[in-house]
Amino acid sequence: MKISQLILISALSAASFLSAQFKQTPLPYAYNALEGAIDAQTMEIHYTKHAAGYVANLNKAIAGTPLEKESLTTILSHISKESPTVRNNAGGHYNHELFWTVLTPEKNTQASEKLAKAITESFGSLDALKEKMSKAGADRFGSGWAWLVVTADKKLAVTSTPNQDNPLMDIAEVKGTPILGIDVWEHAYYLKYQNRRADYLTAFWNVTNWKEVSRRYEMATKGKFDDWQALKTFHEVMSQTFHPSEEGNLQPVKTRIGELVSKAKALQSAPIPAEYNKPAVKNSLADLVKASQNLEKQIKKKASDTEITKALADVHDTFHTVVGLCSAEDKH
Ligand code: MN
Repeated sequence: MKISQLILISALSAASFLSAQFKQTPLPYAYNALEGAIDAQTMEIHYTKHAAGYVANLNKAIAGTPLEKESLTTILSHISKESPTVRNNAGGHYNHELFWTVLTPEKNTQASEKLAKAITESFGSLDALKEKMSKAGADRFGSGWAWLVVTADKKLAVTSTPNQDNPLMDIAEVKGTPILGIDVWEHAYYLKYQNRRADYLTAFWNVTNWKEVSRRYEMATKGKFDDWQALKTFHEVMSQTFHPSEEGNLQPVKTRIGELVSKAKALQSAPIPAEYNKPAVKNSLADLVKASQNLEKQIKKKASDTEITKALADVHDTFHTVVGLCSAEDKH
């Protein structure tokens, strides 16, 4: 599998949580792994109480609402329309899931060449970036976060948000894809540092996972199909209906088949970005509409679950043919 496909799959699957409840990812190291910078008790309480609380409250708040079907990033993108409970807990869940990954017990991880170059171009040096982020964290009054983000024009920017807000929210002053976040809530440092937030911020840089920040930078800047929204929209509905079917749940596809067909048609009629505009891609998009319509026919005539599952698998395979054709011609 090509790197570009892997990136697409990770980018798309990150945006396609199913209607199932949101979950915490297991911590990738022991609670005491960051001792020296962040103590074990802080890590344990932070992960098992604070972060666990956000996800539990998020799941409770969205249960039985249309938000259950949405990805976390989609919810964040229209957070201005949601309740404070959803805003605080969706933000809290996203932010902490990111936070654990940008910490590591591994010493002296390095930014990739590409990220290092972008940091130098944007801030002058890595030290200047650290200083700017530490200042953003120190200046944040009360609770909040300091962020390094990739903006819509693929530039790096440092920003900070209050409470559990983040730069993916439609209400954020500076919007972008976070690639590094520092939790400056007291719960993140108080047991060890008490009021000395600046000392915690200094220590943070001893356990920063630059490999992970680099990986997130690659994803945020390389985002394949970024210019092909219709493809991403179709994929979102397909994955939210296909993945439950893999577990024997055909209800989502039965409920949303009309939407799936209309997204397939929209994808076929939307302009194809020049880099993917090939006859084979066009033909496969036509096949995708046909496969979706066939699936709709099966559902409407109340075909057996086996037949519906087969027709849905056909839609899924056809979609991946489209993606494969685009990736095969990719020169990167
Ligand atoms: Mn926290």
